[in-house]
Amino acid sequence: MLVLFDLDDTLIETTQSIVEPRLDRVLDKMISSGLNIEDRDEALLVLERLNRTGSSSKEALEEFIFLYGGDRALLVHGQKIISDPEFNDLTPQMVIGSEKLLYDLKSIANLILVTRGDEIFQQSKMKKSGLPYSLFSKIEVTSSSKKGCYETILKEFKTPPNRVIVVADRIEDDLEPAKELGMVTVLYRAMRNRFSILPDLCVDYVIEDIAQLYPIVEERC
Ligand SMILES: [Mg+2]
Repeated sequence: MLVLFDLDDTLIETTQSIVEPRLDRVLDKMISSGLNIEDRDEALLVLERLNRTGSSSKEALEEFIFLYGGDRALLVHGQKIISDPEFNDLTPQMVIGSEKLLYDLKSIANLILVTRGDEIFQQSKMKKSGLPYSLFSKIEVTSSSKKGCYETILKEFKTPPNRVIVVADRIEDDLEPAKELGMVTVLYRAMRNRFSILPDLCVDYVIEDIAQLYPIVEERC
């Protein structure tokens, strides 16, 4: 049995503990660079909403700058703040209960982590959050679609797809390709998707607390 985890907003509270505090700082930078914002609180809400509903913080920033008539140079600067791998400004937090979950599951399944993004930034997040990465049999950081990674893992671990549980927060990027390959899909409905209507066929389970994974793994083991 393999349990394959996503990183951002599945094991690490990326939106709440990294992106949103940094968006707050980016907004200050944009204002001090001359972006005309009348109501800061309202602007921050707009920015956070764009981030929670969009596909990436970059896209959210782009749209925000477009909406408020800002210069494109702000985007480059803002992105630098958001994806700063040093983490001198804050400490990335693990999702509550996820550390214990990983230790507990380790005794009954192989744990795998597949995350999409910049290698240095993703590795840094893992280290700074205290994620027990030595528990994972494999950690894969990819810059492209996850489907290829999933296929490689199936071959490498010689596991039939119905013996792989994929846990993630994004339906399109993480779970649709898993479902296409015949894997068991668990949507961790955290920051994203919390208020959205779910397309019904693409996930096998929906959980809102990471501890709800225990009975699912037991049932499938
Ligand atoms: Mg994610």
